[in-house]
Amino acid sequence: MTSSIPKEGFPLFLSEAQLEVLSALCETFIPSLSNEATEKMVQDFAESPEHAVELRAFAKRSGKDNDFPRLLAEFMQERLPVKELQQISLALTVLGTSPGTYLMSGRHWAPFTSLSVADREKVVLEWGSSRIGQKRDLHSGIKGLCFQLYYSYLSAQSNHQTNPNWKAIQYPGPDPERNGEKFKQSQESYVDLKMLQIDHDNTVLEFDAVVIGSGCGGGVMAAELSQAGFSVLVVDKGPYVPPSQLALTEYEAYNTMFEQKAVLPTKTPGAFLLAGSCFGGGSSVNWACSLRTPHHVREEWATKYGLTHFTSPAFARSLDTVCARVNVTEGKDVTHDQQNSKMLIGAKKLGLAAKVAGQNIKKGAKHECGWCGFGCRYGEKQGS
Ligand SMILES: Cc1cc2nc3c(=O)[nH]c(=O)nc-3n(C[C@H](O)[C@H](O)[C@H](O)COP(=O)(O)OP(=O)(O)OC[C@H]3O[C@@H](n4cnc5c(N)ncnc54)[C@H](O)[C@@H]3O)c2cc1C
Repeated sequence: MTSSIPKEGFPLFLSEAQLEVLSALCETFIPSLSNEATEKMVQDFAESPEHAVELRAFAKRSGKDNDFPRLLAEFMQERLPVKELQQISLALTVLGTSPGTYLMSGRHWAPFTSLSVADREKVVLEWGSSRIGQKRDLHSGIKGLCFQLYYSYLSAQSNHQTNPNWKAIQYPGPDPERNGEKFKQSQESYVDLKMLQIDHDNTVLEFDAVVIGSGCGGGVMAAELSQAGFSVLVVDKGPYVPPSQLALTEYEAYNTMFEQKAVLPTKTPGAFLLAGSCFGGGSSVNWACSLRTPHHVREEWATKYGLTHFTSPAFARSLDTVCARVNVTEGKDVTHDQQNSKMLIGAKKLGLAAKVAGQNIKKGAKHECGWCGFGCRYGEKQGS
C-alpha cells in the first residue's frame, strides 16, 4: 500500500495566497510552544535524553512547518466533496483580506495572516462557539482535519514510513509485534477468504439471496440465510484486506478501509463520521467493545417509542445468542490495551463509575494490541 497524498505538481484547489491563510490557520491550531512551556513539558514528560530532544523539536514545530499546510490542502482535495472545498476556498479568500478578516473576527482590520498567533487563537476560539454556523463549521472542520492529518501522515522524508511527531508522543507507529511469533502462529488458525473472481462482463450468477454490505448487519443476515440452507452472495463496495496485508497505520487504514477515506462530513459541515467500508464493514475496524443494550435504554425504547420487544425475554435471549455467537468475553477475562487501561485508571482517580466492557474475541485470546481499529492482524476479533 502506498501513501495516497497526490504527487508534486498536482493542481491544487487553492492559490498560493489561500494556502498562506491555511498555513496561518494550521499554525493557530497547532502552534509552537514558548521556551518556558517547552522546558516544563520536557521536565514533566521526558523519559530519556533522546526523548527530550524529540520533545523539544515537537514543541518547536507548528502546523505551518514541513509543508504541512500543502499536505492538508491535498488531503482535503482528495477527500472532501466539491461543495465543502468551495466553502473552504471562499473562507480562505475572505480571510486573506482586511475587510474579510474584520467580518470574520468582528475587530481586526488586517489580513488574518498578519495577526499575531495569540490574536488568531482568540478569533478561532470565538468561531467555535459562534452563533453563525459557517464560523463554527470552519472552526471544527479545519481543526478536525488538521489534527487528524498532523498526527497520522507518513512523511515523504521517512519514505512514507513514519510521522515526525510519533517519537515525541511515544507512539510506536504500526504494531511492533505485527510480524512476530503471535502473528505467525495466528496465520495457522485462520484462512484468508477467497473472493469470487468474475472473468467475463456477461457472467450470469444465480443465488437464492444477495446481501449488499458485509458489515454487522449484512454479515449476520448472510450467515442466517446460509445456515437455513439458502445460497447467498455477499457484495461489498469496499476491498477485502486479509490480515497479512493490514498496514496497521491510521493513515493507510483510513485510506483503504473506511468510508470516504474517513473524511465523511455530515450534511452541515463541521463534524465527520467514521464508518468501515471494507469486507466485514464496521466489524473489521471496530474496537470489539461489546455492550449489551443497557436496561434503561431498552426501557426508554419501550415506553417512549412503543417498542416493547426490547424489554421482552425474547430480546434478552437474542442478546445472549449474539454474545455467544461472537464470543463476548467479559470481566476479568478481558485484557486491556494501554489506552483503555489508562482510561480506567483515570476514571477511578476521578471517582467516576467505570467498569470493564466485554469484547468479541476468540476464546482465550488476549486482545491487547491496541491496533484493531485498523483491522485485526491476529484474526482474534470475531467480526462478521
Ligand atoms: C472505528 C469504529 C469503531 C467502532 N467500535 C465499536 C465497538 O467497539 N463496539 C461496537 O458495538 N460498535 C463499534 N462501532 C460501530 C459498529 O461497527 C457499527 O455500528 C456497525 O458496524 C454497523 O453495522 P452495519 O451493518 O449497519 O454497517 P457496517 O458494518 O458499516 O457495514 C456496511 C457495509 O456496507 C458496505 N456498503 C455500503 N454501501 C454499499 C453499496 N452501495 N454497495 C455495496 N456495499 C456497500 C460498506 O462498504 C460496509 O462494508 C465502531 C465503528 C467504527 C467506525
